[in-house]
Amino acid sequence: MQQYISQLNEAQRAPVLQKDGPMIIIAGAGSGKTRVLTIRIAYLMHQGIDAFNILSLTFTNKAAREMKHRISDIVGSSEAKNLWMGTFHSIFAKILRSEADKLGYPSNFTIYDSQDSLRAISGIIKEMQLDRDIYKPKQILSRISTFKNSLITVKAYFNDPELQEADAMSKKPRMGEIYQAYVERCFKSGAMDFDDLLLKTNELLTRFPEVLAKYQNRFRYILVDEYQDTNHSQYLIVRALSDKFQNICVVGDDAQSIYAFRGANINNILNFQKDYQGVQTYRLEQNYRSSRNIVEAANTVMEHNKTKLEKVVWTANEFGPKIKVHRSLTDAEEGRFVASTIFEQKMQNQMNNGQFAILYRTNAQSRAMEDALRKRDIPYRIYGGLSFYQRKEIKDVLCYLRLVLNPKDEEALMRVINYPARGIGDTTVEKLTVAANHYKRSIFEVMQNIDRIDLKLNSGTKQKLQDFVTMIQSFQVINENQDAFYITDHVSKKTGLVQELKKDATPEGMAKIQNIEELLNGIKDFTEGQREIDGARGSLAEFMEDVALATDLDKDTNDEDRVALMTIHLAKGLEFPHVFVVGMEEDLFPSAMSMSTRSELEEERRLFYVALTRAEHQAYLTYSQSRYRWGKLTDSEPSRFIEEIDGQFLEYLTPAETNYRFKPMIDKDVFGDVDKSKLRLSKPVSATPPKYITDNQPKPEAPIRKLKPVSSNAPSAGANLFDNKLTAGNIVMHERFGRGQVLNLEGVGADKKAEIKFEVGGIKKLLLRFAKLDVI
Ligand code: ATP
Ligand code: MG
Repeated sequence: MQQYISQLNEAQRAPVLQKDGPMIIIAGAGSGKTRVLTIRIAYLMHQGIDAFNILSLTFTNKAAREMKHRISDIVGSSEAKNLWMGTFHSIFAKILRSEADKLGYPSNFTIYDSQDSLRAISGIIKEMQLDRDIYKPKQILSRISTFKNSLITVKAYFNDPELQEADAMSKKPRMGEIYQAYVERCFKSGAMDFDDLLLKTNELLTRFPEVLAKYQNRFRYILVDEYQDTNHSQYLIVRALSDKFQNICVVGDDAQSIYAFRGANINNILNFQKDYQGVQTYRLEQNYRSSRNIVEAANTVMEHNKTKLEKVVWTANEFGPKIKVHRSLTDAEEGRFVASTIFEQKMQNQMNNGQFAILYRTNAQSRAMEDALRKRDIPYRIYGGLSFYQRKEIKDVLCYLRLVLNPKDEEALMRVINYPARGIGDTTVEKLTVAANHYKRSIFEVMQNIDRIDLKLNSGTKQKLQDFVTMIQSFQVINENQDAFYITDHVSKKTGLVQELKKDATPEGMAKIQNIEELLNGIKDFTEGQREIDGARGSLAEFMEDVALATDLDKDTNDEDRVALMTIHLAKGLEFPHVFVVGMEEDLFPSAMSMSTRSELEEERRLFYVALTRAEHQAYLTYSQSRYRWGKLTDSEPSRFIEEIDGQFLEYLTPAETNYRFKPMIDKDVFGDVDKSKLRLSKPVSATPPKYITDNQPKPEAPIRKLKPVSSNAPSAGANLFDNKLTAGNIVMHERFGRGQVLNLEGVGADKKAEIKFEVGGIKKLLLRFAKLDVI
């Protein structure tokens, strides 16, 4: 354990060594916040704290898995496996399952994804005969989401004339009724949407003091990563759970707060000191991730924001290459530039695809990039967008499986009751819906009792409905004794889904069958993996829980070496040696929809700060002078964010342009009604260590054992250190490829390479000046 603690700098060590009490770590990007959380958990366990008593909340489930992995390496996997770690949604879904009956839900409640929610809302709008152009389902859903995350229940809505007035003003006087109908519909279906997972947890903890006490006693130590992006609902859960023991450690960076549009509340950071007694505040200032050029450039970006906390970020890493700026004529050309740069870098520096990331503001931008990468035969992977589980053929299978677990699930039922076609038409379904509403029962229950209700259906139709019920019930019987793989295989065959797809011999049709096979492979993996965990049998319920909360980022990609494509929002917390931020154009980034107020523009700027600080060694900013948007070729101008970076950090690959078009904006602070005396503007910051280092601030030192990219003509101290240390036979840990053994070393100085056999992914040759390796 000591070894891991000694790898931290002094500022990082302090919060690890403080065992009890409330603490907040506020620090810039790449300063080791996530690393501190990880080591802190391991150290708590080392001091005898039971893993059962620790709760750790992360931004993605993947991040949680990686942290757990690291902790296993330190304290052993039998201990680490009992840790509760994951996103707010996945952790509280688990708690809600065991307490569901208290809230009137079945423990096998379904979790609706946004497609299901939209479908339900569309249905309601239709039933209420409202105009879809005014009551746009997406807008309605986002408004409902805002209500839920602010804990505004239907009742609270109807008690709040201001809210009702606001909706009436925006021509949606029936908003409240839709909200109410939606909530009732979900409840009747035994379903919760994503926001419910937080809202209902709050309800559970406030209405049932004994439940609150139980979880307070259980989670004696609570840790939260990316605290700046928690919303009000999440904030209240954390506050309630930590209220008894007050052992709460949160880490965050106000400069990376990028979810205000979804209700994240920067006040959660600012109020932390008020909420708890005797809060210790820690600041980390040394960035270990990025070259000095990137760190300094990112600092100059943040200087343009008025509202921010005082913060210093510097690095002892080498200066590194300048940020390269590239202009192209079209978005296709922009794609070609990115693809050919990746191609050349791979050739010249023996880099892997996985060392590159392409980040963009909107998902639509991925297409031009994909086309160019495909032409160059560069494998890539898109994160976000339509996830695997939302593809039609997959979702069809999943909806049958959802019915097996919870036949009340109305959205699932509607989707598959007549797919594959079995002669149950729209009129029949409408009659069933009316009856279900009338008897206040689920549609499935109406179908079960179809003989006893007079719906004026002919006997053929009745028989078909009964057959459907019998089929689902037979699946339920099988599911009692079989694992998730068996039941999924059975369902996809017996429902006729696979046969239906086989009728379509086009390549698209074949791809769909392959997707179903892929789903089955995934489930097989899952069931086998689950068997290693105590008490888990790889059941369908366990699998569906995983699926409902899986984000694309969660899938393990260790076995694949691909360029990563994703929106900047998704890239939070991640790092890559080379990062392309594409589409650096006015109206795209900053987005045209986020430029009317200063606070919106400042959020865009923080997003840019996040993008830039993902890069370890080289960042590229690219823009195009024209671009297809909404089917039209539009002219575009370079983003103001490029000009906001001090020119000394940039290298223009094409001549710079400066005809920026700035829009007037309303001067409104992002911090709203926050006490402004608490906010001080940052001083201009240099990337060298600040002069006013005091005793409790460490002097910069070369990272211990940690290798950083160094330029080919000036190997840094870190590289020399490494050169001496690494020998064949060493066991090493790579950030992305995991654990491996060094087989061979070749070359000298900046060209030195190691051949490493990784446990997952096989043998790879890595250029040491880029490879991020820890010797273990
Ligand atoms: P972000 O704000 O982007 O989430 P972060 O503050 O969470 O960043 P980490 O991801 O924990 O930062 O760390 C950034 C990188 O620096 C990681 O590769 C990490 O392993 C490395 N690092 C952190 N602390 C040290 C240290 N003391 N010595 C060497 N490397 C370190
Ligand atoms: Mg982090």
